[in-house]
Amino acid sequence: MFQWFINRRRKKLTQVPFPSSWEEIIRRNVAHYSMLENDERTHLHSLIQVFIAEKKWEGGGGLELTDEIRVTISAQACLLLLGLPHNYYRNVNSIIVYPSTVVPPPRKAGFFQNSFNPVELGHPIIGQAFQRGPLIISWDAGLSGGRHPEDGHNVIYHEFAHKLDMLDGAADGTPPLRDRAEYHDWVRTCSDEYLRLKHDTEKGKKSFLNAYGATNEAEFFAVATEQFFEQPRLMVKHAPDLYRVLKEYYRQDPLERVSRKLS
Ligand SMILES: [Zn+2]
Repeated sequence: MFQWFINRRRKKLTQVPFPSSWEEIIRRNVAHYSMLENDERTHLHSLIQVFIAEKKWEGGGGLELTDEIRVTISAQACLLLLGLPHNYYRNVNSIIVYPSTVVPPPRKAGFFQNSFNPVELGHPIIGQAFQRGPLIISWDAGLSGGRHPEDGHNVIYHEFAHKLDMLDGAADGTPPLRDRAEYHDWVRTCSDEYLRLKHDTEKGKKSFLNAYGATNEAEFFAVATEQFFEQPRLMVKHAPDLYRVLKEYYRQDPLERVSRKLS
């Protein structure tokens, strides 16, 4: 019964025409949008309409939330969902946006008693995803991530990838997959690449993957997601199998989008 109400509400939300002012914001702030096909754009619009309405949005550090902030963050968060079976990040209740880099406030000890502890308290961060709790984004990093896709850094992809990973209860770098064959392929491929990155990082050797991905498996998946969408050419060149498993998982092909744009 409850799901029936939710579905009816969602249907109503997506029946409203997508505001042209929102589309202008996306065109301005989310470079990846220009590479999408028309049907992907339409699909993205409806995801954004539901996502914005269902999540609780808060401004931290005196930031007043605007449509630009909500739409820019939602467009990038929902881009990850385009090909996935999903329930609009059911594990994200609220999104707190800070104007800039933040030092997270202290939380109750129990909060961190899980396998996932992305940053130490007191360290400045540009984003953070809690297993149970809010998702934190710094607006300046979120904006620059969307506008500069070529640099491989995107805090919004990063934090929402953590939330996809956490959907099965564990932040272990493996989101829910389709079947045993996909798990097998994923674990083998990602472990190889993770260990290679760890080894390279320890030796001070530069990898195409951001060294932060060597922190643990969860960070590896979040970093790989950023670069999968932003630097597909580089990933295919250096780690074709990693690109392949991510493409199978997300059911999107950013390389094809880039190639189409260039042709
Ligand atoms: Zn992270």
